[in-house]
Amino acid sequence: MPLDLIIAKELKLPIPKGFKRCTKCGHIKSLTDFHKFTRGKFGRMPACKVCESTCRKIKWKELRMKVLRYINSQLICNYCRNNDIRLLQIDHIHGQGTQERKLGYRRLYNRILNLSSDDVTKEYQLLCANCNHKKNSSDSYSIRLDAISYLSEGNPKCFNCETSDLKTLQIDHIHGDGHIEFARLGSYRLYKRILSMELENAHQEFQILCANCNWLKKIILRQNR
Ligand SMILES: [Zn+2]
Ligand SMILES: [Zn+2]
Ligand SMILES: [Zn+2]
Repeated sequence: MPLDLIIAKELKLPIPKGFKRCTKCGHIKSLTDFHKFTRGKFGRMPACKVCESTCRKIKWKELRMKVLRYINSQLICNYCRNNDIRLLQIDHIHGQGTQERKLGYRRLYNRILNLSSDDVTKEYQLLCANCNHKKNSSDSYSIRLDAISYLSEGNPKCFNCETSDLKTLQIDHIHGDGHIEFARLGSYRLYKRILSMELENAHQEFQILCANCNWLKKIILRQNR
């Protein structure tokens, strides 16, 4: 605390009008340095904005650590055992992560802390950023292949030109509203949805096109609009 403030405190000098002492750092600050709070003294919060934000950051960090520890008390990556806690991420073992992240971290954290410790280890694991990235890209890669193979009844090829180069094959929404569903569900859930459909129904909505045919289709659609 600055010396003049300590002296002011010692001497119990009156705090000038429009100012207030922060209950956390003890500094005397202008009322505008405190958030509004109708039931507080002078209609302001007891601690200044700076103290409140530091406090919030600390609490948030503590909450994150609590959640990470609840998932894996050793605080290491489940695959490569990297123990840099800055790199650790919460991975949903069965790949619902993208969907859950849309809930926001607060709700995700609450959800995890409300699970029993058995259920937590069944559903979540800690992975470092690299392992998480690798896992999720291979997950969506293999489920993408599953969906392509399902739609093409085990014989993956472009429905239009019949090329069978897997790397070029894409799943196309026949009625051309693909980007909307893609954005709403994310690729993983979209592939899941395809795999859960009756083949006959799936064929009314989806087809396999190579990237070239898909691209040409888009151009033709645009020209006819
Ligand atoms: Zn303060
Ligand atoms: Zn790792
Ligand atoms: Zn094609």
